[in-house]
Amino acid sequence: MTQDEVLSMFKQSGALLEGHFVLTSGLHSDRYLQCALVLERPEQAAALGAALAARLREIGEAPDFVIAPALGGILVAHEVARAAGVRALFAERQDGALTLRRGFRIRPGEKAFVVEDVVTTGGSTRETMAVVTGAGGIVVAAGSLIDRSGGKTDLGVPRTALAVLDVPTYAAEECPLCKAGSRAIKPGSRS
Ligand code: ZN
Repeated sequence: MTQDEVLSMFKQSGALLEGHFVLTSGLHSDRYLQCALVLERPEQAAALGAALAARLREIGEAPDFVIAPALGGILVAHEVARAAGVRALFAERQDGALTLRRGFRIRPGEKAFVVEDVVTTGGSTRETMAVVTGAGGIVVAAGSLIDRSGGKTDLGVPRTALAVLDVPTYAAEECPLCKAGSRAIKPGSRS
C-alpha cells in the first residue's frame, strides 16, 4: 500500500479529519486522527496489518512475536502478527506503568516487532520496547500505521510507518486558523 492509499482509506473511514480541531491536549490542529475508525472494518485492519508486516520485514529480521501497548495498538499487533504468522501480545497499564499481564510470556532471546496505531513522540512505543527488553527479549523493529512526528521520532531501532504526517499543533492564542476567523471543534462532540 502506498502512503496515498493508506491516507485515503483513513479519510474514507473518518479516521483522518481535516478542518480545525481542539486536541485532547488543548492544542489546535488542522487534522485529527482516530485510528479506531479505520480498524472498525476487519478487512481494512487486516490489509493495514499485512502492509505494516511487510514493511517491518524489510527493516528487521523475522520476529517471534508482535507486541503493542493497549488499547490503541492491540488490533494493529494482532493483524501484523496474523500476517507474520507469529504471536500477538499487548502490554497494559498497571499502576501507571506498561506491563505484561494475562499470562503473556516473553522468553529470553525472543525477537519482537513493537507496533502502535499512531506514533507522535514515541513514548508508549519506547515503554513497550522496555517491557520486551526487561523480559530478555530483543526488539528488531518498530512500526506504526501513522507517524505523526514527520519522521523525527528516534526510537533507537529500525522504524517504519505506513504514512508519515507532519501535523503542526498550535496554542489557541497562536492558532492561524483561529486568527483567520474559524472556530475549532472538539472531535467526537456534537457541537
Ligand atoms: Zn484554532
